[in-house]
Amino acid sequence: MRPIVIAANWKMNTTPADAGELARVIAARTRESEVIRVICPPFVCLAAVRDALAGEDVAVGAQNVHQEAAGAYTGEISAPMLEGLATWVILGHSERRRDAHETDDVIGHRVRRAAAAGLRPILCVGELLEDRDAGRADAVVAGQLEGALAGSDPAELAAAGLVIAYEPVWAIGTGRNARGADAAQMAEAIRATLASLGWGTAASEVPVLYGGSVTSANIGEFLAEPSIDGALVGGASLKPDEMAGIVARAGLTAGARRATAV
Ligand code: PEP
Repeated sequence: MRPIVIAANWKMNTTPADAGELARVIAARTRESEVIRVICPPFVCLAAVRDALAGEDVAVGAQNVHQEAAGAYTGEISAPMLEGLATWVILGHSERRRDAHETDDVIGHRVRRAAAAGLRPILCVGELLEDRDAGRADAVVAGQLEGALAGSDPAELAAAGLVIAYEPVWAIGTGRNARGADAAQMAEAIRATLASLGWGTAASEVPVLYGGSVTSANIGEFLAEPSIDGALVGGASLKPDEMAGIVARAGLTAGARRATAV
């Protein structure tokens, strides 16, 4: 049975002075033992969030890492540097593809580097609106997965707990979410692509999250789809009320899936 994951992407929000308190409040309001909770603050807030979450079963994640371990890369952060600070990392977010021009090839290197450093990668994929309108959403997402993961060792990435986040670009930060059925269809297509990349039956064990304007009001539509295993939440993840509602709904889904699995 795949786990249910709710990951918070705080993006470029919060400061070391206020991030710890926000993390503490969210942790206290989202205690659901069957849901994996992850908070991904900006790099400079990782230590504050880690300290604030001491004793809580909430993981801390980064929002990116460089593909090299060390070297002349001014302003960059490497995976080994995150030891003791984070155990998860978001990679290939569409905002980084757009703003930092990260390619599938670079993202793939980052995924492998993160996994080798013991970080659990959340690899983000998703199509532009023009791709969906032209009927090529599946092909675009398959191409992103192939570009990033072809040549990787599936066993290594499976052992690292690779998670895929399907985030249609037109749904991120726009208030316009995808339909649950479309996201579910894409989750199945993602697992089919992984299988074609040599993952075999392990493809069916990879958690696929939905991301894109998720709120406490619409999370149910996604979790009602058996192929979707949680959410990567942006804007709403800064609001404790929203996170409480999202994780509570995820807890119900986790319980229901466990009950039907046994
Ligand atoms: C995200 O940042 O991954 C995201 C999905 O953002 P939002 O929930 O704000 O659309």
